[in-house]
Amino acid sequence: MTACGYDEIRVDPMGNILGRIGDGPRVLALDAHVDTVDVGNPANWSVDPFRGDERDGIVYGRGACDMKGALASIVYGGRIVRELGLGGDCTLWVVGSVQEEDCDGLCWQYILNEGGVRPEAVVIAEPTNLALYRGHRGRMEIEVRTQGVSCHGSAPERGVNAVYKMAPIVADIERLNARLGGEPFLGTGTVTISEIRSTSPSLCAVADSATIHLDRRLAATDTLESAVGEIESLPSVRAAGAQVVVLDYAVPSWRGLTYPTRKYYPTWLLPEEHPLLQAGGAAYEGLFGRPPEIGRWVFSTNGVAVMGLHGIPCVGFGPGNETYAHMATEQIPIDQVVRAAAWYAAFPGAYAGAAPAA
Ligand SMILES: [Zn+2]
Repeated sequence: MTACGYDEIRVDPMGNILGRIGDGPRVLALDAHVDTVDVGNPANWSVDPFRGDERDGIVYGRGACDMKGALASIVYGGRIVRELGLGGDCTLWVVGSVQEEDCDGLCWQYILNEGGVRPEAVVIAEPTNLALYRGHRGRMEIEVRTQGVSCHGSAPERGVNAVYKMAPIVADIERLNARLGGEPFLGTGTVTISEIRSTSPSLCAVADSATIHLDRRLAATDTLESAVGEIESLPSVRAAGAQVVVLDYAVPSWRGLTYPTRKYYPTWLLPEEHPLLQAGGAAYEGLFGRPPEIGRWVFSTNGVAVMGLHGIPCVGFGPGNETYAHMATEQIPIDQVVRAAAWYAAFPGAYAGAAPAA
């Protein structure tokens, strides 16, 4: 960003980097997270995942498409805006955000609540294969807990086994998954049990507590309240007097800052007729001479906080194919990195020119 002539560069206390181009009244942001997942077994890689390699116009390595390729594109998109004077009356924030892989959106909760930056729209630069994406399903992490009364395992009738109280709940959760609703574009919600555990004073005693961990994927029609209410109203949960708890995330960032949040990552879906989507399409057509594909992500992004929690419209556009994210074959075509940079440069003018100020 220094080499590209940014007007201001900050690293905030969480460790997000924010670079600014221009100082107009229309505030926009481009977001790429700078963290990656681990590499897994290095033997699965054909290149050193941390050194990368370039072959036939494709860059391989951890983070190539998720999403250091897009980071290069947005930084250079900002440079093109500055050099060609494309910003108009915009302030463009180019953001390298942190901790996305662990807790999507936490970085933007911090930027919006504590950072003094509030864009009117945000582009999420996660890989879309240069299509325009309108959203994705959300998710939640929920625990259901039952309590028992422990006693000697030789006379279980003296106690109450928490695992037996959990058993009908497990069956009810499986049936609940089949009835969850949604809408056609993002699809239906899902729920699955990802872990089950119990406690007992000894392996020769009746279990005194049992816990299941639920991975709940949220449709556009689901909310935190509706998802929790569905679990709480299951007959087995009522009968067992089980506790339903939405979990918290409180892990320090690389700078040591802990910013606790609930593990509730709401669905977001930009309406088809929204000016942000129209402007994205106009910028694309102006550059490439045809309308873009419109789609949605299968995975989750920082949009859960920006649009899902804060109601700031988001649109997705990024280089690379999301199917390579988190894989040992992670890769990105350089041609897409370059084309994406051109779109990031054209977007602010297309948006601010077409969409009236809010
Ligand atoms: Zn990502």
